[in-house]
Amino acid sequence: MAGRPVTRFAPSPTGLLHLGHAFSALTAARAGDFLLRIEDIDRDRCKAEYEQAIYDDLAWLGLDWPRPVMLQSDRMGAYRDALGRLAPLTYPCCCRRGDIRAALSAPQEGVLPAGPDGLIYPGTCRHRSMAEASPDDVIRLDVGRAFDAFGIDQIGFVDQGTAHQMTRRQFHDGIGDVILSRRGMGTSYHLAVVVDDAAQGITLVTRGKDLFDSTWIHVLMQRLLDLPTPIYLHHRLIRDDAGKRLAKRDDARAIRHYRDEGATPADIRAMVGLQDIG
Ligand code: GLU
Repeated sequence: MAGRPVTRFAPSPTGLLHLGHAFSALTAARAGDFLLRIEDIDRDRCKAEYEQAIYDDLAWLGLDWPRPVMLQSDRMGAYRDALGRLAPLTYPCCCRRGDIRAALSAPQEGVLPAGPDGLIYPGTCRHRSMAEASPDDVIRLDVGRAFDAFGIDQIGFVDQGTAHQMTRRQFHDGIGDVILSRRGMGTSYHLAVVVDDAAQGITLVTRGKDLFDSTWIHVLMQRLLDLPTPIYLHHRLIRDDAGKRLAKRDDARAIRHYRDEGATPADIRAMVGLQDIG
């Protein structure tokens, strides 16, 4: 591939950035021309003060990015268009989590099958047409119909030089009919991220290994929407002393907390194991 990759960091402003975010953002910035995107589709959980904290903490870390920054909350029209294009492959679903659990747990009890989009949807509403959709419904992709319509047997992507593949059967059994539009939201993370990575011309997606399995969904969506599949780099996760992955509620690991204690950007880089590359 010619030229320098275009990378991005795409945090959701639902809390303060922690050491894991610092590692992710620094990894993206080192790997290519760095863009920032604010993933704020969940209006109930996103806060303006956290968005501002993202800008402040990243700038403090020494990162820079082109303005204006893409905000997903400004992009609802693009998500609506993409959903419209996929309409023949989608259906409205009124099942709540309890309905899905009940349908999945019969006849035997045990661990319910789940994948990167949550419980594997048993298909209860699959017969419904989009003409019947109500605002209380979510919109799901009929994965079987999608693979059929496009004659796809398997999908694949490259992560750090290694090719990964998934068959139609594996997708069906391990992921299922994913949600493309959440109740009252007009999109889902999966739809928005695919539309926006393409709109921003991202050629290398760097993000944590926790999102590796979501990438199958994204690659399928790219096929259906005729968008390019970028190269992926799913990086290691930063863990706390007990080995647990950091979460936004771990305020003690927030970049802001270390700043307040007098840490420098070089200290943060050292803490996440990036000290040797400046
Ligand atoms: N917005 C997602 C997050 O905060 C990251 C999405 C991505 O990198 O694809 O975890």
